[in-house]
Amino acid sequence: MVAHPDDCELLCAGTLARARRDGAAVAFCVMCKGDKGQPSTPIPDLAAVRRGEAAAAAKLLGAELLTGDFPDGELADTTEMRRKLIAIYRQFKPTLVIAHSAADYHPDHRAAGALAEAASWFCASGGYMPEHPPLQSQPGLWWMDTINMSGFEPGFFVDVSEFVDLKHQMLNCHKSQLARWQDRDFSPLENVMKTQYSARGAQAGVAAAEAFQNHSVWKRMRAW
Ligand SMILES: [Zn+2]
Repeated sequence: MVAHPDDCELLCAGTLARARRDGAAVAFCVMCKGDKGQPSTPIPDLAAVRRGEAAAAAKLLGAELLTGDFPDGELADTTEMRRKLIAIYRQFKPTLVIAHSAADYHPDHRAAGALAEAASWFCASGGYMPEHPPLQSQPGLWWMDTINMSGFEPGFFVDVSEFVDLKHQMLNCHKSQLARWQDRDFSPLENVMKTQYSARGAQAGVAAAEAFQNHSVWKRMRAW
């Protein structure tokens, strides 16, 4: 569960690809429309373009695309947004949610993380939105690495060495964002992603890795 259409690729796509290969049903839940990330030559109806880019990336992985359709820069832990995400969780029925860390740089990322934590708890509460049947139990919750790894102490790593090419193919679907590489307030995404999976891989003793923390609170921990 991420804020923007290209966040999965940067932070967790390799792990999702491993889960998919092992037989899991996987979905990307993207909360914001991506409507404000314009390149220097503006793209008409950018939200629709970015939705198409995210759908193409999800298809490469074999994932379902679920969307919150909220405007960029306006995500917050509100009752309205919780209710929308709870309905999404009750539709897809995840056993594990992967969400942005509270230490991440972008306000939408931090809001998405807070929403994921609340909604993945209340989605199993029968008294909350009784018009949708609740999940049998709360899904597990993992916090993702932060963009550029700032302020994030990994709890564990997932070896994604086999899925590096797929991560690049998926990122390459996001042409409207890759077009921003020369913008003053933007960083070349391929470099950001490669630096991160390589550094986390070096820490874990493999070619490429993604880092996570388990949300280790009562009723959210799992015995495997
Ligand atoms: Zn983002």
